Amino acid sequence: MRNLGNTDIKIKRIGFGGLPIQRINQEETNDVINEIEKYGINFIDSARGYTISEEAIGNAIEGRRDKFFIATKSMARDYEGMKKDIEISLKNFKTDFIDLYQLHNVKAEEYDKIFEENMAYKALLEAKEEGKIRYIGITSHSLETIGKAIGTDYFATVQFPYNMVEIQADEVLKKAHEKGIGTIVMKPLAGGNLDDAELALKYIMSRDHIDVAIPGMDKVEQVGENIKAADNHKLTDEDVNNIEEIRTTLGNKFCRRCEYCMPCTVGINIPTNFLFEGYYTRYNLKDWATGRYESQEVKPSACIECGVCQSRCPYDLPIIDMLKNVGEKLEK
Ligand code: SF4
Ligand code: SF4
Repeated sequence: MRNLGNTDIKIKRIGFGGLPIQRINQEETNDVINEIEKYGINFIDSARGYTISEEAIGNAIEGRRDKFFIATKSMARDYEGMKKDIEISLKNFKTDFIDLYQLHNVKAEEYDKIFEENMAYKALLEAKEEGKIRYIGITSHSLETIGKAIGTDYFATVQFPYNMVEIQADEVLKKAHEKGIGTIVMKPLAGGNLDDAELALKYIMSRDHIDVAIPGMDKVEQVGENIKAADNHKLTDEDVNNIEEIRTTLGNKFCRRCEYCMPCTVGINIPTNFLFEGYYTRYNLKDWATGRYESQEVKPSACIECGVCQSRCPYDLPIIDMLKNVGEKLEK
């Protein structure tokens, strides 16, 4: 147990990621929530964008709201949109207050705008003053965004992808931790690239500057498996060797969403397309992934193969071929 940064939110360091429960029904959700309560997992993270997730969790925690800290997030960037989303979240969770409300996946180019008049941050501040939310946080896949956020006093927490093969945020998360900003890490299993959940979570738990990891859980048995890491997080020599081997095997074959390849010459959002592909293939959220893919203004098929992105990728990913693969899978 520890406090999330300087907040009074005292949580188990393994939290509950609410994305995958979109795949299961209410009864199964209730079972998973019963199980997390049994193991003392008390931090729940969801999002307005995770379709039924907020509502399903809200139904499951009815009558036991006080057992959990609720975090959620919204993609709204304007004042009215954020205000509306906060009200919907409150209704979905059947509660008077959300413990942590986060700006969801803020891109570097969006960051400054959210603080302007009639933009999202103002709505969050007002909701905080009214007691509807207790703390404001930010989530992103952009190091630049998180770097900017921790240079201010605007956010109680930051959330970023982090796992044994994606440690590019180490320094920025260390700085956040030193400053008393809560550090929440998503994608602890590298978007399904890591099979050994216990080792993956044990690695994160061994990193003292990380407050909480939020693996997605949609099966009762995953809860007990994940919690083992929280109770035993001293890495053995064997663990260290295994981690090295996994890093070598996975190598540079997957996108870390660092965004160094951006901007694309024709405006393709390169890492987001790899993200959709991951949701399609590994999380089995095919409809969600194809829906998001289709809604893009510029799709991978617009690539002119200029190669600029590949020359920028620090992991030497064959982006052009990878985008073709995404297009083949997700384009209707
Ligand atoms: S190769 Fe394709 S994806 Fe990469 S920058 Fe050029 S147009 Fe964009
Ligand atoms: S393709 Fe490469 S540069 Fe672009 S986000 Fe992924 S890992 Fe980073």
